[in-house]
Amino acid sequence: MKYVLFIVFILPSLVFAQQNNRPNIIFIFSDDHANAAVSAYHDDRKLLNTPNIDRLSKEGMTFNRCLVTNAICGPSRATVLTGKYSHQNGFYNNETTPFDGSQQTFPKLLQKAGYQTALIGKWHLISDPTGFDHWEILVNQGQYYNPPMIKDGKKVKYEGYVTDVLTDLSLDWLNSRDTAKPFLLMCHQKAPHMPWEPNLKHLNFDNDRKYPEPPTLFDDYGNNRGLAWKDQYMSIAKTFNDDHLKLNPPVDVNEEQLKEWNKYYEPRNAAFRASKRSGQDSIRWRYQRYMHDYLASLVSVDESVGKILDYLKAHGLDKNTIVVYSSDQGFFLGEHGWFDKRWILEESLRTPFLCRWPGVVKPGTENNKIVSLLDVAETFVEVAGVPKPSDMQGNSLLPLLKGESPKDWRTSFYYHYYEYPRWHRVRPHYGVVTDRYKLVHFYKPDLDEWELYDLKANPKETINFIKTPSYAKTIVKLKAELSRLEKDLKVPPISEEHRSDYGSAPFSDPALMPLNSEKKH
Ligand code: CA
Repeated sequence: MKYVLFIVFILPSLVFAQQNNRPNIIFIFSDDHANAAVSAYHDDRKLLNTPNIDRLSKEGMTFNRCLVTNAICGPSRATVLTGKYSHQNGFYNNETTPFDGSQQTFPKLLQKAGYQTALIGKWHLISDPTGFDHWEILVNQGQYYNPPMIKDGKKVKYEGYVTDVLTDLSLDWLNSRDTAKPFLLMCHQKAPHMPWEPNLKHLNFDNDRKYPEPPTLFDDYGNNRGLAWKDQYMSIAKTFNDDHLKLNPPVDVNEEQLKEWNKYYEPRNAAFRASKRSGQDSIRWRYQRYMHDYLASLVSVDESVGKILDYLKAHGLDKNTIVVYSSDQGFFLGEHGWFDKRWILEESLRTPFLCRWPGVVKPGTENNKIVSLLDVAETFVEVAGVPKPSDMQGNSLLPLLKGESPKDWRTSFYYHYYEYPRWHRVRPHYGVVTDRYKLVHFYKPDLDEWELYDLKANPKETINFIKTPSYAKTIVKLKAELSRLEKDLKVPPISEEHRSDYGSAPFSDPALMPLNSEKKH
């Protein structure tokens, strides 16, 4: 009888107490934030100081090798939600086929398990969000100044700078949430996505600093590298237009904002025009302007992380809330002469991932294992006490966060990029990544080129070793590993897979790179 009473009265209340104790989760997700622009990653160029993101590093764990599955916005976001590769969640490319919101996602699983769920900011998956008690998203890519948004299905518009707006909306939601439940808040920033339009108050943040150039700014794509390198359309030299360079004013500002904008850019633009730079001199100027704008737009993102952390502390939530800062992929900051992402190369493949979780994660720790945005769903599902669905393709990071070093943790990783030819004519490719090597196959439209990079021998990835005899055995091993991963991950044969091309417009089509004056809102 005693035991029956225990089961009837005590056990449910213990379960309830345990469930009530489950940690809250804040997932701060920026757009195109390169590791090189997070000071906690100690890049040689020391491009930007990010004191608030670095708080997560000092008080939590810094993952040095977090990889993405398909380095563009939408597909990366779909992978975070589902814990699946593009070929399993159906979202391969930006803006072609809507994300199937009826499928299993981790926010849905958390919501079902009693979490209050909210998504605020960039969504970019075409269909409406599902699995959230509250959602408020930017329209498509969103705009930097005075952004229109969609709030639970209805259009709204805000005055101000997008990062501030999204931060305020996130804090408002935290204030109005149901405090009886644990929560999941996904705060998805637009910055620092193109066209890198800074908060006006930060325009002069660097006092016209001259940024160090990357050693590969004038890469010649030699050393046996193939057509994919030579035929891309993502270079600072050729692809940057007057909008990218802020030689045109933005169209989404009001009169007062435009005045501020002009006050900073007009004299500098006039000096540039008068200088009549050409060749490498012009590329150097473009790189400097690009760094200023990209990094200035990140100052607000860092401030936002600080505001959220301060809020948690002020409201006694800092002890039992997991805070993750990450980005949907990395970005080229002049390496190989490029901006943008897409490639299996380190700059776009790696993304920041920092996690603070007092009592579980030891402060100031680093992790060098291969982890991925693919692991986010399983991690949060485990944190919420939900059984792991058998069809997710990642690994829960929980053991790593606890400081364990599982012997069977992945030592290789599968990557696959599909979108072609828009926006930047980067050839679709897939490959296998290890701590040291990358074996890559470029396959479309009429390409059949294999490349091998060796991070130990050539950290800047400027040499293709595929024909170097001393690598023959390594290549055989990597090909076998690639086949194993394809089988394990159920990758369909290339001839059969769904690859809806992003239109077939020729590259002279201005729609590929519209100027501000030509944009439609
Ligand atoms: Ca992105």
